[in-house]
Amino acid sequence: EPALLLAGVKRRYAQGAQALEILRGVDLKVAQGQSVALVAPSGSGKSTLLHIAGLLEHSDEGEVFIAGTSTARLADRERTRLRRLNIGFIYQFHHLLGEFSALENVAMPQMIRGLSRAQADARAKELLTYLGLGARLTHRPSELSGGEQQRVAIARALANAPRLLLADEPTGNLDPRTSDHVFGALTELVRATGVAALIATHNLELASRMDRRVTLREGKVVELA
Ligand code: ADP
Ligand code: ADP
Repeated sequence: EPALLLAGVKRRYAQGAQALEILRGVDLKVAQGQSVALVAPSGSGKSTLLHIAGLLEHSDEGEVFIAGTSTARLADRERTRLRRLNIGFIYQFHHLLGEFSALENVAMPQMIRGLSRAQADARAKELLTYLGLGARLTHRPSELSGGEQQRVAIARALANAPRLLLADEPTGNLDPRTSDHVFGALTELVRATGVAALIATHNLELASRMDRRVTLREGKVVELA
């Protein structure tokens, strides 16, 4: 089954007395192991789509399936559990915990899932080393460069071996050269782990390295060449 399936997803927001329909019937399938770039202008609904796909927000209509599981009738607790087990997030800003080391930031979600400290540390070390941060394990976020902080955020998102990775402008806060390196590391790790990825980006060059490119047009997902 696909890692993510959106079928007829609609979402509207109240804007004054009016209702603004941002998503008007989104259909999108992301196969296991596939990487998809979401390239669309600001305000077109990318974050809304990612929040709905990530079970952080409800749709008004339509269906969301995560790894074959319908989310329509799940209670909040079950949605949270499905999210923790299956979905990793990367944001434009890293949202790392400032008082903890890189290693601890990556180990923590695994310990929340129930792994021992030793198991969590071992996987965190492996991921961070793969991302070129083997010599930065005990550094706190403030002691790392912007690119390094974002690599730690990538490792954290993949720490629990999710089926689906959702990223919202993951390199939007970095200079072009750093952005290029971090995106390279991200796509390499996506390939190596076989996680499905839906990544919103403004950068067409970066998008061209992914398996598929889609955009949002009048509230619907449209495939790009
Ligand atoms: P993008 O990520 O493509 O910039 P968003 O999904 O963030 O687009 O927003 C799409 C539109 O929906 C914008 O016009 C935004 O102002 C509006 N919007 C997003 N979230 C809300 C909300 N919680 N309440 C009202 N309007 C919202
Ligand atoms: P880059 O050029 O890759 O963006 P920087 O020039 O910002 O990296 O940083 C170079 C190195 O210095 C990084 O590897 C980082 O770990 C270290 N570093 C950056 N800022 C600090 C800091 N405030 N305290 C300690 N080490 C730092």
